[in-house]
Amino acid sequence: MNTKEIMALSDQYVMHTYGRIGLALVQGQGAELRDAEGKTYLDFVGGLAVNSLGHCHPAVVRAIRDQAETLMHVSNLYYTEPQAKLAELLVQNSCCQRVFFCNSGAEANEAAIKLTRKYAKKFGGPEKYEIITAEKSFHGRTLAAITATGQTKYQQGFEPLPQGFKYVPFNDLAALQKAVGPHTCAVLLEPVQGEGGVIPAERDYLAGVRELCDQQGLLLIFDEVQCGLGRIGKFMAYQHYGVEPDLITLAKALAGGFPMGAMLAKQAVADVFAPGDHAATFGGNPLACAAALAAMGVMLQEAVPENCAQVGAYLKEQLLVLQQKYSFIREVRGLGLLLGMELAVEGAPYVRRCQERGLLINCAAGNVLRLLPPLIITKEEADRAVAILDAALGAE
Ligand SMILES: *Cc1c(COP(=O)(O)O)cnc(C)c1O
Repeated sequence: MNTKEIMALSDQYVMHTYGRIGLALVQGQGAELRDAEGKTYLDFVGGLAVNSLGHCHPAVVRAIRDQAETLMHVSNLYYTEPQAKLAELLVQNSCCQRVFFCNSGAEANEAAIKLTRKYAKKFGGPEKYEIITAEKSFHGRTLAAITATGQTKYQQGFEPLPQGFKYVPFNDLAALQKAVGPHTCAVLLEPVQGEGGVIPAERDYLAGVRELCDQQGLLLIFDEVQCGLGRIGKFMAYQHYGVEPDLITLAKALAGGFPMGAMLAKQAVADVFAPGDHAATFGGNPLACAAALAAMGVMLQEAVPENCAQVGAYLKEQLLVLQQKYSFIREVRGLGLLLGMELAVEGAPYVRRCQERGLLINCAAGNVLRLLPPLIITKEEADRAVAILDAALGAE
């Protein structure tokens, strides 16, 4: 099928929940994608932070193929080796001691919300249920996750929303201090806000939040669904800040392109979940775990976060050069390969111009050009992207 045919068929039968770009993709390799007409693109969207090892990484492809031929799915009534090994890997490379597996970022946050409420009720009392989150945050699309999300545009039309969430401005410790009340049990933050427009937490802020949580007996949850797993130059995002959370949620890059989520917690927190308290039929099935074991194995053995830090710093420098050249670039920000360029104008026309020139980028929060390339990109690929961006920004 050609692009037109795929678009027509899709528009006829798939629910219109996405504002789609008129591009049908058929194949990917490394940092490149090919559309239905055979045109290739440098992929700086990276499946929205999913394809961190690039497309069709051979280790991930092999692991999926081998596991698919052996055992794809069994119920969580039973033990499997890939699940046990993946949990071990995540624990050995984080500050947490226990893992719950699910299938997406929203589900990981749901699991964190449930675990947090159970913990708070047990140790704080029945009136402890409120979770404070940040304005401009994004935590997913289930009802609890859109309520945790501090942006009304994701909530409107879906009321009544679950109770027990409160929002504060991000990077404002005084506001958080003031917001803590008798019902508060936890703080949920993205160390780097992604959908909100690539806004990194300040180091002092996160350290202050940790201290406040300790003083007030609150749990600290980091949503690392987008910024975790190498994206900002460390395996876990909290490691960049040197601030340990009590719970971590992961998804996107976890299984190298295969759908998977996870919620990690410290031992004392995890212990309040008893058999039957939470579950996911597909969560941590052998196929997803084999894919994740391969992906995270490559990530750790081949020092992918370190490459990300180096190439990311280089790419950011080049974006700062572009900022000197174009007065409508307000700010360049971000960490590692989670980078944003805030414009004084709408971002969508520039996304289109980049696409016409063979570069896929994304626009967050209306005017922030967001770059989320695979973490394995080279300096040469970064240069190619910057040259196209330059041409797109300069075009009339
Ligand atoms: C993408 C994202 C989610 C939601 O993940 P899904 O897999 O789409 O449910 C949650 N939190 C953050 C920070 C995200 O970027």
